[in-house]
Amino acid sequence: MKHTIQRTYNFNAGPSALPLAVLEKAQQELVDFRETGMSVMELSHRSPAYEAVHNEAIKRLKDLFAIPENYEVLFLQGGASLQFSMIPMNFLQPGQKAGYVMTGSWSEKAITEAKLFGEPYEVASTKEAKYCRIPELNELQYNDSDAYIHVTSNNTIYGTQWQEFPDTADIPLIADMSSDIMSKSVDVSKFAMIYAGAQKNLGPSGVTLVIIRKDLLEKANGKLPTMLKYGTQVKSNSLYNTPPTFGIYMLGEVLRWIEETGGLEAVAQRNEEKAKLIYDAIDNSNGFYVGHAEHASRSLMNITFNLPSEDLEKKFLSEAKEAGFVGLNGHRSVGGCRASTYNAVPYEACKALSEFMIEFQRENGVN
Ligand SMILES: *Cc1c(COP(=O)(O)O)cnc(C)c1O
Repeated sequence: MKHTIQRTYNFNAGPSALPLAVLEKAQQELVDFRETGMSVMELSHRSPAYEAVHNEAIKRLKDLFAIPENYEVLFLQGGASLQFSMIPMNFLQPGQKAGYVMTGSWSEKAITEAKLFGEPYEVASTKEAKYCRIPELNELQYNDSDAYIHVTSNNTIYGTQWQEFPDTADIPLIADMSSDIMSKSVDVSKFAMIYAGAQKNLGPSGVTLVIIRKDLLEKANGKLPTMLKYGTQVKSNSLYNTPPTFGIYMLGEVLRWIEETGGLEAVAQRNEEKAKLIYDAIDNSNGFYVGHAEHASRSLMNITFNLPSEDLEKKFLSEAKEAGFVGLNGHRSVGGCRASTYNAVPYEACKALSEFMIEFQRENGVN
């Protein structure tokens, strides 16, 4: 008897929902991958079967994200958090400055690491406004001599997202795109480096994607431990040591799913429609739900909101949980509620959440 699987409405911030089609394909291939008689997890990372998986994933990334020829694609470990350290280690010399645009907790973590190696400074910060917005481009004041400018494209905790990136000309622009990579197309050529932990929009945790322009590599500090130099993994196609093979396989399958469901343009359109359902529930609530982010800075990936009181928030979260919604608690540092609507979160889940919000308001609102 075939048992029907009930998939949860998963709004987790990360690790987060994966496409059902990808999970089912992985399940089907789990014990015998492409007639090897083994799981991908059991293949040697030096075998042709694994190398095909690895190179297919890189090729899909280059094609889907339109990565120009003069960039390298790397699969690293240590999460986006290790990139906070590796970037200044490689590209910030003692006494040299680098500009950080402060848009949330992840920017704070990034600048903290840079202070260990050079002189990072805040190009702009919206901390006083509780990070409810992204600075305007004309608020960004930096110096031509900066080693690089660092931005966080989507602020997972506060629910804000850059709509337009600065043109930093000859100063390398580096972006942490952990929570909105591949949610829409981006002009990669504006950036010297893009990085992202895989576990929000690309696959399971354990893989960190780095896209890096070749000329930036030439400026890297050579006196670093082997595993902390980008050059090491560039030279060996991310196979210097054992890569997270199963995670890279899953990432490749997530990219295949994006291709098969219409590419990045279709993904972006679905993301807009999904987020709109929930933002509409907020905007049409007469102030019962209050969005944290200013309209112009709203994220299509993490939707943050509050209710009129903490008691109502508790009630909302507990009734939502009972109704089958998972992951709606705000980050432990800010409280409130957050719905993460990454690529793999289905439209139906967002529709169900918006209906739940409207119903909850009807039952608990004052009007
Ligand atoms: C989740 C997240 C991180 C941390 O990623 P790890 O892979 O856990 O180190 C960093 N930056 C942003 C924007 C994130 O959303």
